[in-house]
Amino acid sequence: MKNSQQIMKILVVDDEKDIRDGCERILIRMECEVKKASRGEEALETMETWRPSIVFLDLKMPGIDGMEVLRRIHEKDQDILVIVITGYATVETAIEAMKKGAYDFVPKPFEPAQLRIVAGRAIEKLRLRQEALELELKRQRTLADLGKEQSRTRTIIEALPNGVVVTNTEGQVVLMNPAFIRHLGLPPDTQPGNFMKDYVSDEGVVNLAMEISQGKFTEPDQAPAVEFALSEDKYLMARGRPVLSEDGECLGAVVVMHDVTAMKMLDRLKSEFVAKVSHELRSPLATIREQLALVIQGVVDEASEQDQYLLSRAKDKTQSLIDLIGDLLDVSRIECGSVAQQPVPLQVEELLASIVDFMKAKAGAKKQSLDIILPPAPLPKMRMDPMALESVVGNLVANAINYTPDGGAITVEVGGDEKTIKVTVADTGFGIEEKHLASIFDKFYRVKNDKTRFITGTGLGLSIVKGILDSMGATISVDSEVGKGSRFTVLLPLEESCD
Ligand code: ADP
Repeated sequence: MKNSQQIMKILVVDDEKDIRDGCERILIRMECEVKKASRGEEALETMETWRPSIVFLDLKMPGIDGMEVLRRIHEKDQDILVIVITGYATVETAIEAMKKGAYDFVPKPFEPAQLRIVAGRAIEKLRLRQEALELELKRQRTLADLGKEQSRTRTIIEALPNGVVVTNTEGQVVLMNPAFIRHLGLPPDTQPGNFMKDYVSDEGVVNLAMEISQGKFTEPDQAPAVEFALSEDKYLMARGRPVLSEDGECLGAVVVMHDVTAMKMLDRLKSEFVAKVSHELRSPLATIREQLALVIQGVVDEASEQDQYLLSRAKDKTQSLIDLIGDLLDVSRIECGSVAQQPVPLQVEELLASIVDFMKAKAGAKKQSLDIILPPAPLPKMRMDPMALESVVGNLVANAINYTPDGGAITVEVGGDEKTIKVTVADTGFGIEEKHLASIFDKFYRVKNDKTRFITGTGLGLSIVKGILDSMGATISVDSEVGKGSRFTVLLPLEESCD
């Protein structure tokens, strides 16, 4: 019989030659490798260079006593199985030997079958022991590999230049890396375990982590990025994703933060540059427009139709340039935070009614109706900069007029409660495809299709609107259906109520 790996080595120690040879024959047939010794001393000597797994040991031999040989074998190696061979008269000795650690015994004289059974039992025991050992080794190797893998992943996360923070479903931080601690300027020995708000003061980031942790965003890139300022000269950008189990269950959130200060500074420089250049361009352009207007007036009768057309095109183009510059200046002002800075108590619906009145001529030119629906009772007064509100509603109504075909209808509705004033601007125009909705508030974003191709614009209007509203803590949303129309909804918070 073979064990899974190696041939079983057996040492037979008996002073009777017949027994030694008989054992050898039987055991060789069981595919074991056998050595023999006639005395205890010889057996121990053999074992100096050759390790048997099993020893058949006669207890009654001349020379060293069998019991002593048993003791010395186990002194050398506890794992060797010793089977004592003993005469009937010495069964007690055999029992004694087993108490001292012998594995089994075979009484003399024995039949070959008896020896085979005893040897088979010992071999099986060794085989099982070997298997258990291999399993244990394998388990330890797997554990070691896993440990190595985990520590490797950990090392990588620790070495990342970006801050990484992981929260569980309750929003508690379970992991953070040194870059997170560094970026947020936390003490170097900061440990995970608390809620996100205990490490990050920005509400937007805390809410982002909480919402992702609670499973609000199931798609990987659904959650918005949040940019936040740590101080006057340090800005971070946080992006988060849900941590999902194999069956898609949300286990928490992983939020990565990186330093966007350099980009922010560059952006600020760019805005300052744009503001400066725009400012410098505005007055000469206004002069050119005035002069063109004078020329057109003066040559109205004499100039050929072609010349008049060219002059009025030049005047229109100058006007678009002035509009563009106006928009750029607005954007720059929003970016450097200088909007909505002259708040006064305002009866919102009154101002809106006058804006709508003012824009009726523009709508009339396209045979569109432009109406305002006012609340049944006056709204609470609100502290805000009238110029800011004018810019917001003016831009929304101008867009509604521009992106609605002739004869369409535009409706401005004002309502609200003690907490919010709600202004909607709805039109029956071209509508906006779903895929563009998230981008139309970005700077310079314009939807290009057959309907909008001939409508001029800068793509800055809605970004100005959004910038102004953000600076006031107000929100804007849009619903739209292609071919049916669009509805922009502005919610102005009334905390600043001045009633
Ligand atoms: P501009 O009007 O100068 O292009 P905006 O930032 O005001 O820039 O608007 C961005 C884009 O959003 C527009 O180009 C237009 O495609 C789309 N849009 C805005 N308002 C409406 C509207 N009421 N109906 C349809 N499309 C609109």
